[in-house]
Amino acid sequence: MDLSLVIPVYNEVENLSALMDEITSALDGQDLAYEAIFIDDGSSDGSYELLESLREQNDHIALIRFRRNYGQTAAFAAGFDYAHGKYVVTMDADRQNDPADVPKLVARIELGDCDVVNGWRENRQDPYVMRKVPSKIANGLIATTTGVHLHDRGCSLRLFRHEVVEELNLDGEMHRFIPELCSFNGFKLAEVPV
Ligand code: UDP
Ligand code: MG
Repeated sequence: MDLSLVIPVYNEVENLSALMDEITSALDGQDLAYEAIFIDDGSSDGSYELLESLREQNDHIALIRFRRNYGQTAAFAAGFDYAHGKYVVTMDADRQNDPADVPKLVARIELGDCDVVNGWRENRQDPYVMRKVPSKIANGLIATTTGVHLHDRGCSLRLFRHEVVEELNLDGEMHRFIPELCSFNGFKLAEVPV
């Protein structure tokens, strides 16, 4: 297995079919054996049932279901435990990340000089005052205190070498600090515009 996509899902029934179509068109043409691991985090809108029916038609899909809503960190941790791929990609299910960017992340890691490739939303489509400004302030503080400098530390689209996710013991809301945790563990980070 070359690539595992880890995709937390909480009430995304409107997005899942289109997302799976995007994944298929982004990856089926590549010479990559991949799995798309969906972690249903206690959805109540029929996301799980839809994922089950998608899985019946598509061998790439793997499905994990939580009994209740445990949050995105727990969903990532469950996906990382399951993942078989040499590379592991995290992404959102709400179509804020584009699967067409995944091959760029793979190309970057294959240069061989890093362990984690972070997506960098160069043209971020979020409200300026409510999201961009607070995130700039928080990112500045976190970069100063941790010494980990990234243009965009909040983009879920990331690629890891498998050994990196084995070292991450995610708990609480720690998915917000994944780049810093990787860096503390001695792994090298890179960024790619998405
Ligand atoms: N998500 C999840 N559990 C939760 C909340 C969110 O699995 O309790 C999923 C959600 O379906 C999406 C991803 O995590 O795929 C990111 O969530 P969201 O879009 O709410 O985060 P934001 O884009 O605001 O950072
Ligand atoms: Mg989102």
